[in-house]
Amino acid sequence: MTDELNTTVYDDADADVSHVTDETVAVLGYGSQGHAHALNLHDSGVDVIVGLREGSSSREDAEASGLTVKTPDVAAAEADRVVMLVPDTVQPAVYEAISDGLEPGDTLQFAHGFNVHYGQIEPQEGVDVTMVAPKSPGHLVRRTYDRGEGTPGLIAVYQDATGTAKEGALSYAKAIGCTRAGVIETTFQCLNELKLIVDLMYEGGHMEMWNSVSDTAEYGGLTRGAEVINREGMEDVLDEIQNGEFAREWITENRAGRPSYEQYRQAEQDHEIERVGDDLRSLFSWGEDEQREEAPADD
Ligand code: NAD
Ligand code: MG
Repeated sequence: MTDELNTTVYDDADADVSHVTDETVAVLGYGSQGHAHALNLHDSGVDVIVGLREGSSSREDAEASGLTVKTPDVAAAEADRVVMLVPDTVQPAVYEAISDGLEPGDTLQFAHGFNVHYGQIEPQEGVDVTMVAPKSPGHLVRRTYDRGEGTPGLIAVYQDATGTAKEGALSYAKAIGCTRAGVIETTFQCLNELKLIVDLMYEGGHMEMWNSVSDTAEYGGLTRGAEVINREGMEDVLDEIQNGEFAREWITENRAGRPSYEQYRQAEQDHEIERVGDDLRSLFSWGEDEQREEAPADD
């Protein structure tokens, strides 16, 4: 279907799930996105291996849900599609550890354009490089799928070695439920969502919202949040994203052990709005009758 802006919106009828059900898929990481993708793929009949570090606290959780767990290098070597769902700042190191397991014709897939767009990962030739990014935190990707619904998603193709990279991305989007809601093709840049983020604050306050979004989104919010509420500030921040300044700062911050990130986070946690909000939210009845599904704890 095509909307008013002439954007093609892909739905279930546009995607063939057999492309991914014929593959073995390695999902690296079992956090917000990782657990949702792995469980939805598994329920869609895809052969999934979850890639986790030796000693990861998520292993037990994944195995209890019926998933196979191996180390990232072994999972990637056995897989035809390797999906990077570890935090953005960890991905370059994980890529180094798994790249030998990528053979020509395999697919390397992301849920965010950050590392490829800003040159932190330069994928080898011969593999397809794609993005399938649900426009939603992981627990909603899982919860909506369970209800027979889905969350909208973006797909992108960065490198098409096989000629079927886009078909594969659409197939994966279908297997995790995104084509039930609608999928749009984009590039390896970023888009923003507002309501889903506001819903998370409404459900669980600032801290639950920060915990559900990626570290990259959290750092951007903590350092630039106050600026984007007016148009001029928003344009300045968009400039910083597009010219790479934000990416450089975030990479440097991580190399230094995240000193400012931790400071911003603590201030947010200690803020009065967060403490009063906790008390207030405990009075709402939806806290009791709808059991919130938390993403598995980070390890
Ligand atoms: P997360 O922080 O929730 O989880 C990451 C998981 O990676 C951890 O739970 C852990 O299991 C694993 N991990 C951490 N370090 C590791 C290491 N060194 N080796 C192996 N495994 C390790 O991450 P997330 O927020 O789900 O983000 C994953 C990707 O999805 C990112 O690219 C992010 O930008 C993208 N994304 C996230 C959201 C979101 O709502 N959270 C939405 C769209 C896209
Ligand atoms: Mg492989």
